[in-house]
Amino acid sequence: MQDVQFHRPGSVRDAIAALRAAPAGRFLAGGQSLIPMLKLELAVPSDLVSVAHLAELKGVRSERGALVIGAATPHAEVAASDVVRRALPALAALAGGIGDAQVRNRGTLGGSIAHADPAADYPAALVALAATVVTDRRELAADQFFRGLYETALEPAELVREVRFPLPERAGWAKFPQPASKFALAGAFVAKAASGVRVALTGVGSAPLRARAFEDALAKDFRLAALEKVSLPSAGITDNRDASAAYRAHLAGVMVRRALAAALA
Ligand SMILES: Cc1cc2nc3c(=O)[nH]c(=O)nc-3n(C[C@H](O)[C@H](O)[C@H](O)COP(=O)(O)OP(=O)(O)OC[C@H]3O[C@@H](n4cnc5c(N)ncnc54)[C@H](O)[C@@H]3O)c2cc1C
Repeated sequence: MQDVQFHRPGSVRDAIAALRAAPAGRFLAGGQSLIPMLKLELAVPSDLVSVAHLAELKGVRSERGALVIGAATPHAEVAASDVVRRALPALAALAGGIGDAQVRNRGTLGGSIAHADPAADYPAALVALAATVVTDRRELAADQFFRGLYETALEPAELVREVRFPLPERAGWAKFPQPASKFALAGAFVAKAASGVRVALTGVGSAPLRARAFEDALAKDFRLAALEKVSLPSAGITDNRDASAAYRAHLAGVMVRRALAAALA
């Protein structure tokens, strides 16, 4: 690892100023993705600007039909939050199934979505719930936020402040984890709202994928029976040593059915 300047700013404003002044800086939240990248020299930043301790970026609150979660809120806090469990239990379940205890205690919502791992859990929830990512300078719909493999719409030195999740009528989450990493081989988030049904998959492509055939079927009839003849084609689905495209596509269909069952429970 090369030498890195470490900053511990006292506010969001100072964090952004520190990153803007750095030649090749990165925000550091829980470090659960960035520190391994540093060790492997997949990222070689000049400066690390810590945001994990900033109270402005932490916490959960209810707000006019939505749940708002601060970017630096650790997964464990989301999983244990009474507010989340009551308002959006599927999201609490998702956060409680991320990685292991250390990852959940250190890793954050903002870090997860900014990193945009193709098998991460939160991105599917953001897309299925039509969430809004609030940054230091604008608001981005989840559909616009995730651009591809480890790629988002964030600009240099743009900080995720919080995510606003509109509350659905019903929602459910299911994932089949890779046994060693706990990342999804396939995961599905199903949400039914007044505006319609959205089904988002993770682990099957370079970014969260809307499963339109499942959405269309569930929009007509939000019951398991509606999915009897619906499947995900394996063309274009991730195919690697962990799972073939055909296996992953089948698994994704199973995860949609399990997520729907959870939503209906
Ligand atoms: C063993 C292991 C198992 C895991 N299993 C899972 C799993 O099952 N499911 C899952 O979804 N994830 C899993 N993860 C990833 C985990 O969720 C990480 O916590 C997450 O990907 C990154 O969050 P972080 O807070 O640690 O971010 P960091 O590692 O600190 O940062 C990641 C990236 O986000 C940027 N960043 C951080 N905060 C912000 C912000 N507020 N605004 C803008 N950019 C920001 C950083 O600059 C960096 O580029 C696992 C990780 C490990 C190590």
